Amino acid sequence: PLFQKAVFHTTVARLGDLPVDSCGEVAFAGRSNAGKSSAINTLANHTRLAYVSKTPGRTQHLNFFSLSEGRYLVDLPGYGFAKAPGDIRSQWDALLAPYLRFREPLRGLVLIVDCRSLLTELDEQMLAWFAQTGKPVHVLMTKVDKLTRAEQMRALQAMRESVRALGDEDFAQRCSVQLFSSLKKIGVDAAKKVLGAWMGL
Ligand code: GDP
Repeated sequence: PLFQKAVFHTTVARLGDLPVDSCGEVAFAGRSNAGKSSAINTLANHTRLAYVSKTPGRTQHLNFFSLSEGRYLVDLPGYGFAKAPGDIRSQWDALLAPYLRFREPLRGLVLIVDCRSLLTELDEQMLAWFAQTGKPVHVLMTKVDKLTRAEQMRALQAMRESVRALGDEDFAQRCSVQLFSSLKKIGVDAAKKVLGAWMGL
């Protein structure tokens, strides 16, 4: 089975500290409170694993969770609640931008969004910027347990259109969107399949 053995591996504050043994990794981005930690925990079959990322001293860094065979899930800092804009900017320039742009073992980006909201400006910036890498994006619309089936379908359609509008046809081809719930375990196997394929698991 995919993703059985995830354990906390390391917190990376500087590019020079990135794991050198990675055979493939997937990064998770999203606005604070979107449900990113819950989604990582669910995908990694843990209850509290990704809460490591919320402990003091680790929130602004990259947190690596190791799966089997040198594969990693990478929790990026949640955005939206930073104390000072200057802090986000310098951290973006020094760590996040070069990581997302040049990290060879990075296979793709998972963007976590709350299914009840639209893409925020920062979500859009993240997607438009990541589009330049030529790597794929998978949008997990989480907390779908809060919507009726009809609302889920409408939200999914609207999100697909918003994502497509951010890039060219090539980008649209590399983007996928799905419904997810950590609470009700909806869409877990589908998400694991996508990420597993990216990482060659
Ligand atoms: P993060 O800040 O993006 O890491 O978000 P968390 O994973 O900590 O979740 C933020 C809040 O949303 C918490 O109160 C979670 O319990 C709740 N939450 C996360 N995922 C789900 C879900 O699938 N369904 C529901 N109903 N609530 C969720």
